[in-house]
Amino acid sequence: MKRFAVYLKTRPIGLVSLIVLFLLYLMMTFAEFFAPYSPNTSFPDKSYHPPNVRFYNGTLQAQEWRVTNTVTWKYARIRDHYTPIQFFGEGESYRLWGIIPAQRHLVTTDPGSYPVFIMGTDSLGRDLFSRIVYGSRISLTIGFVATFISLALAVFFGGLSGYYGGITDWSIMRFSEFLMLIPSLYLILFLRSLMASTMDTGQSYMMITIILSLVSWPGSARTIRGMVHAIKREEFVLNAKLEMIPSPLIILNHIIPQIASLLIVSIALSVPGFIMTETVLSYLGLGITDPAVSWGSLIRRDISTLANLRAFPWLLTPVWFLLGVTLAFNFIGDALRDYFDPYHTFFSRKKKKGTRDWGLGTGVRSCRRHCCPENDGTSDLSPVISKHDNTTHTYPNNPNRKPQSPVPSPQCGKAAPLLIVKDLHITFSVLRGKKLTLIPAVRGLSFALTKGETLGIVGESGSGKSVSTMAIPGLLPKNAAVNGSILYNGKEMLGLSTAELREYRGKKIGMIFQEPGRSFDPLQNMGSVFFETFRNSDPNIGKEEALEKAAALLAETGLERGRERLGNFPHQFSGGQLQRIGIALALAQGCELLIADEPTTALDVTIQKQIVDLLKNLRRTRGISIIFISHDIELVADISDRIMVMYGGLAMETGAAQEIINNPMHPYTKALLASSPRFGSHYTQERLPAIPGKVSAPGEDSSQGCKGNQSCPFAPRCTLAKPECSQELPALKMTAGRELRCI
Ligand code: ATP
Ligand code: MG
Repeated sequence: MKRFAVYLKTRPIGLVSLIVLFLLYLMMTFAEFFAPYSPNTSFPDKSYHPPNVRFYNGTLQAQEWRVTNTVTWKYARIRDHYTPIQFFGEGESYRLWGIIPAQRHLVTTDPGSYPVFIMGTDSLGRDLFSRIVYGSRISLTIGFVATFISLALAVFFGGLSGYYGGITDWSIMRFSEFLMLIPSLYLILFLRSLMASTMDTGQSYMMITIILSLVSWPGSARTIRGMVHAIKREEFVLNAKLEMIPSPLIILNHIIPQIASLLIVSIALSVPGFIMTETVLSYLGLGITDPAVSWGSLIRRDISTLANLRAFPWLLTPVWFLLGVTLAFNFIGDALRDYFDPYHTFFSRKKKKGTRDWGLGTGVRSCRRHCCPENDGTSDLSPVISKHDNTTHTYPNNPNRKPQSPVPSPQCGKAAPLLIVKDLHITFSVLRGKKLTLIPAVRGLSFALTKGETLGIVGESGSGKSVSTMAIPGLLPKNAAVNGSILYNGKEMLGLSTAELREYRGKKIGMIFQEPGRSFDPLQNMGSVFFETFRNSDPNIGKEEALEKAAALLAETGLERGRERLGNFPHQFSGGQLQRIGIALALAQGCELLIADEPTTALDVTIQKQIVDLLKNLRRTRGISIIFISHDIELVADISDRIMVMYGGLAMETGAAQEIINNPMHPYTKALLASSPRFGSHYTQERLPAIPGKVSAPGEDSSQGCKGNQSCPFAPRCTLAKPECSQELPALKMTAGRELRCI
């Protein structure tokens, strides 16, 4: 609850909704105190009296009105006739909860003086506000009570059905389908008609609640059954069975908690549904009857004609209450759903041109501005394309600043860059315990890629390789704030809308992923995967034509009998074959840039070699550019023209692949190379040196502090570290033809 309360601070609408509901439930509980009069107190000569609270002489006062026409109930205000409104004053006597005698009301006027009508009166001169307050008792409790009864039934029947299966499942499901087949309104009408018309308020209230619960459980029961069915095969349930724990206890203690989040969200979302159904029933005259009041019965009784409403618009007030409660429950339900779903933790806030700024992006910028005054965001910027076109390079944050260490383009003067990433910052905001934490995953990354070039990115797990490449086609989750610049063919990619990105995703930028088995839908055969992809760029393409094109692509990527195999499902292929299909799919819309995020990690070495050869070949024949990510520096050197070594969200060393392999300069690159096994060496003769320590999580080491104390993130593990390394972050400098971040 505490965690949720903290989380709600990031969801203002959810927070406001919670406060509104709290106030309404408070009002409901102490209705006798909040309402100035009892719901049936009638002022015979004040039918359809307008609201009369006014601000006069610096206080709230009830103004007097006089009837001018008792047929049409026209009123006129009387000037200067005011009665002071008393807060916590003594008025009509009542018994709180039917027990405690009292006389104090939140607002009232002296007994015998002019009454206060906060929201006007109805046709019998009864105070509408008092009736709404009392009506909330039925309306607000009916929702909760019905939800709990129906959810209990759903958990009971869904749990039994899913857990035991067989005949139990069959009987319960057929019965629930039978109930679902009957339109629920007819069922409600039928059940209601069986009830005696002479029922008193309490009885009819009970009956309506029970009827509502009875008709609504089957839908949820089916969902719960499906989930239980899946969970019961998990090993922890098998283990519990092995320990001879009785089945009801397994369901209650091990299975239901797994679906608790779904249950909580469904409670929040179904309460307003029940309130509305009660309203509809009362509106139809089948719900709460006189003298009891609910919001539904108020709406039914008061809003009889449109003319009535036009003459006395305050009669619509119960509708606003109903709407408020329904929306509040829905907003809280939304907040709860997002809270339990880690992928949708944050709402997007305002976006600024040039940034793809989700969640707390503004916070990230202000952190850099306020906490690191000496760092204007350019100190560690690598002006990657500064010289090749002989124009003055400018920095995104500071156009007047000249680069200190111009780094020539990798293929100076040879080819125009296809992709230029400048000063890329990616910060995730996550809720850790009670605190909203910012995780700086990428902290000023710059690189360029020319047409037809292959850039290899290496680094240990968590160095930010995947997130920085996922930012290019805009695939990061909502809790990532992205700043800097990503120019693709000269066009700024950050800040593009999803519709604009559609022109790039798949069509220009393709991706292949680490685990081929998990990047395909298990229920879709390959033919339909390709058909769907081709139709994205050519909506008129026929199925046959698409399959022919797919077969040609599969042949190009080296999959044998491709045309026949298009009817197969993902599980019918091996990992290597799936990766070939993944590459073919990435090429299907003619992509120019292929991002391969550890495409060979899940494959054995022979297949690895084949995939790498295939990528090299495609680069030659199609002229595509490739970003190849891997942990394996030797493998990366095999395929890449240039290598960028990343650590702690920063580029440590970038240069031509062979130079880096033969003559590594950065201590981290050296350590990486030293720790990779070489052909011919064996652990019995020579122990491979490991890099001491482990990669610290972003945001946890002092190197990433935002109070100006940035230091080299590798310093704590570096065997050559000096005291200066922990004092400031070395800038990326051109050294011997490569970019190097080391003192
Ligand atoms: P690996 O080699 O294991 O794939 P990587 O270099 O690709 O590692 P990334 O996936 O880029 O690493 O992650 C960089 C950092 O960003 C990690 O510390 C990770 O915890 C953090 N991170 C990634 N995605 C999220 C997210 N959605 N929310 C919060 N933090 C994230
Ligand atoms: Mg990764």
